[in-house]
Amino acid sequence: MNHAAAPVLVIHGGAGVVKKEMRPEKEKAARAGLERALQAGYAVLQAGGSSLDAVEKAIVALEDDPNFNAGRGAVFNHDGRNELDASIMDGATLRAGAVANVHRIRNPIELARAVMEKSEHVMLIDDGAEQFAQSIGMPLVDPEYFYTEERWQALQRALEEEKTNTAEPGKTPHHGTVGAVALDARGNLAAGTSTGGMTNKRFGRVGDSPIIGAGTYADARCAVSATGWGEFYLRATVARDICARVEYRGDAVSKAAGDVVLGVIPELGGDGGVIALDKDGNIAMPFNTDGMFRGWIGRDGKAHVAIYAGE
Ligand code: ASP
Repeated sequence: MNHAAAPVLVIHGGAGVVKKEMRPEKEKAARAGLERALQAGYAVLQAGGSSLDAVEKAIVALEDDPNFNAGRGAVFNHDGRNELDASIMDGATLRAGAVANVHRIRNPIELARAVMEKSEHVMLIDDGAEQFAQSIGMPLVDPEYFYTEERWQALQRALEEEKTNTAEPGKTPHHGTVGAVALDARGNLAAGTSTGGMTNKRFGRVGDSPIIGAGTYADARCAVSATGWGEFYLRATVARDICARVEYRGDAVSKAAGDVVLGVIPELGGDGGVIALDKDGNIAMPFNTDGMFRGWIGRDGKAHVAIYAGE
């Protein structure tokens, strides 16, 4: 394969890693899940597939893995329900699709893509999104599919802390998300993000992940998928801000992503990370939390999986 045209894939499984709470089995399972998703997405690129297909494939693998807060492993809201959000964007055409607050969609990223390709809209939410899914023959799953003991217990702890007012001051609410950015052999970029949102979130709350320009953005030069405290990512329009810095100022993607994630977001009081990729295959993965589940295969074709800084 021509080295200059070698594809690139970067994925994340969320920046809400709390080192002291990380059990070794959990860490092992998360690393294995990242590896699987990375290989699933990269196989598409290696076969000459599009960045959009690779992003979708990698995210489906992460949504199906209960270790990550998206799809099967989605967190519970305050009322004990799962509300899922996802978005996808094609850098070559600037087309985008998104869904928010769905409860019966096994792979929200697939529905986001269907909204982009099979409807005249960019975003559908709630029952309307599920009705659209049915209209295109996408099966609905029983909401029970999203029940996992680990997430249920996390909600119980959050409810208890809320009731007894024992949450550590300044402690970030539990979060996590999955996402991918890819560059295919034709030089096209794409980005996608999928999440269960934040544990104990209010019914109807929507974060940055399904919002084009906040959680996800891709154009001809730059692709970004974000993970972090969504309220801050929304206010800072993180994904578009990073790509705008690349476009208007000619910033390197590492500078643009670093300035936003390590500057703008903490200054506002938020936390999290992003994965970002440019048209030349340059990768940036800054985060300001203990760790960020992530994996990447750059132009050298080598697979890497990491959680903490410096890995
Ligand atoms: N950004 C997601 C949200 O606020 C959560 C996360 O990425 O950790 O819904």
